[in-house]
Amino acid sequence: MEEHEIVIGLEVHAELLTESKMFCGCSTKFGSAPNTQICPVCAGLPGTLPVINGKAVELALKAAIALKCRPASFSRFARKHYFYPDLPKNFQISQFEEPLAEGGYLSIEGRTIRIKRIHMEEDAGKLLHSEDEGSFSSVDLNRSCVPLIEIVTEPDIRSSFEAEKFLASIKRILEYLEVSDCNMEEGSLRCDANISVRKKGDEAFGVKTEIKNMNSFKAVRKALDYEARRQISQLKKGEKLRQETRLWNDGLQITEGMRSKEEAHDYRYFPEPDLVPFTVDSSWTERITAMVGELPVQRKERFIKDYSLSDYDAEVLTAGKDTADYFEKCAAGYPNPKLLANWIMGDIAALLKSHKTDICDSPVGPESLVRIASMIEEGKITGSIVKKALQESFDTGIAPEKIIAEKNLAQIHNEDRINAVIKETVEENPKAVQDYKNGKEQAVSFLIGQIMRKTSGQANPAILKKNLLEYLKEIK
Ligand SMILES: [Zn+2]
Repeated sequence: MEEHEIVIGLEVHAELLTESKMFCGCSTKFGSAPNTQICPVCAGLPGTLPVINGKAVELALKAAIALKCRPASFSRFARKHYFYPDLPKNFQISQFEEPLAEGGYLSIEGRTIRIKRIHMEEDAGKLLHSEDEGSFSSVDLNRSCVPLIEIVTEPDIRSSFEAEKFLASIKRILEYLEVSDCNMEEGSLRCDANISVRKKGDEAFGVKTEIKNMNSFKAVRKALDYEARRQISQLKKGEKLRQETRLWNDGLQITEGMRSKEEAHDYRYFPEPDLVPFTVDSSWTERITAMVGELPVQRKERFIKDYSLSDYDAEVLTAGKDTADYFEKCAAGYPNPKLLANWIMGDIAALLKSHKTDICDSPVGPESLVRIASMIEEGKITGSIVKKALQESFDTGIAPEKIIAEKNLAQIHNEDRINAVIKETVEENPKAVQDYKNGKEQAVSFLIGQIMRKTSGQANPAILKKNLLEYLKEIK
């Protein structure tokens, strides 16, 4: 039995989805040429004055309310001082003693993870290091002053698995509320972790380390697993742990010491004198609460109840807001939600992926899907025709029901036409017929497959099977 318990707290940074930066009007667009989205304020020139972006505060409040935090009645920005080349002011405008919101929680896997606080701050720029020896580094300040929220948990997480689940859940909520695009590759969602171990049953916490530089969910899990193992093995050897900051090295799959507590920064926080403190009054809180509305977990429960979907189907369909909206638009016009779910999660999801298209831009709109689902039910088209029509729709952008109509892809019910193909196929495949006569049932499936191919999948399956079996019976 494992004698140690792992204790983890997370600090999640999410860039807010504003058009402009936290304290100036510069664009926040990702990927532009270096230093094309800067001004004297975000470049940190002396004598400039920051102005709070109201939209950023609103998005941060949305996140806070969704995570059950209490918005502060008095909130203030603070200067956090440190020298770093990508931070031209030599301080970052953040929040310290008066954060935007405190005291929330998020339940994952039946456990409650308390959220200590959510505060706002500005992002720093980015250093670009040239690969060549003897070469120079340059700085890109486009990201400088992009609004961020930092979500800090209490040390309530007990495994790397829980940490990953928590992060995934935060990502889903922030994406749902359009608070952040949470693109980890572009750095919109980042996470640091504090981790310590203690003997099971102990009250006191062990010596913690802070892990940085984890750029994916997988990296978070692996880094925490590695660090827990490292700490436990050190303790077992009777060695003392050092309180330090460690970096995850994804190439070597290890954590490496970066700086110890003795070298840690004293940030000399003080209230930002250039910005007025602000209050979040009850009417503002009420307005934002109404904007937050239904969260993914609640929507999933409703999908299970209202549409009789399985837990799995409801989970997949509510993973993204756009997919959930799409499904609900379809379900409003069609009585069999399970069938819709199968098409959305199956063929449509695969086509969206292969065509790198968002569901909102799908050539197969909700009306189209409802139309073709009804045609399947009415026996006018087969599943294989729909597959073809969907593929062609994604290739050409033409609605699938139009493709079916124009190409005359509807099912063949005409028995004379079907019987003619049955006769032809049977004559071409004497061996399969012999096999069937010898009791090999699967020979029928083979013949059906051949006939379907000849009719481009359009033969009505029920008529085809019935008539084929009759025909085979008559053959001596
Ligand atoms: Zn600017």
